[in-house]
Amino acid sequence: MGLIEISVPGLIEVEKGTKVLPPNVILTSFNKVVNWSRFSSLWPMTFGLACCAIEMMTTGSSHYDLDRMGIIFRASPRQSDCLIVAGTVTKKIASVVRRVYDQMPEPRYVIAMGSCACTGNIYNVYSVVQGVDTFLPVDVYIPGCPPRPEAFIDGIIRLQEKMRREQFRWSHWR
Ligand code: SF4
Repeated sequence: MGLIEISVPGLIEVEKGTKVLPPNVILTSFNKVVNWSRFSSLWPMTFGLACCAIEMMTTGSSHYDLDRMGIIFRASPRQSDCLIVAGTVTKKIASVVRRVYDQMPEPRYVIAMGSCACTGNIYNVYSVVQGVDTFLPVDVYIPGCPPRPEAFIDGIIRLQEKMRREQFRWSHWR
């Protein structure tokens, strides 16, 4: 099969047979641009359940500065695309957490922060949910009791890496 020659207007021929893009021009796919804009402006829901939420708030403070990563906490699920479940999830609150998730627009992501959200931790009792993945599709698990802000940021970076690799999540063909 022969090479397919793509005609791009404005190419500069630097030597015979070699053409390069002019300054300020890049070629990429629409998929990469959408993914880049999405993971660069992650808006989590302002939401916390127990002690892990204190670590989450600390990570949002000026010392760790989540704003520099484009992460701005929102006060409404309708403006959020990430649900961070930070804390012990009791069976009483689980339906409320699920309702908050249901009110978020697609595409939406879930982070289980801390051992309680991941597995129920030491609270193997009648009133505590043994992991939020029993009623939510979790994208990233962050273990620890509580996880330090550095671990939390690492979890966010892993979610961003996952978002970077998505194929057509933004379209009807996903
Ligand atoms: S994992 Fe530890 S710090 Fe986090 S909510 Fe549970 S008991 Fe609290």
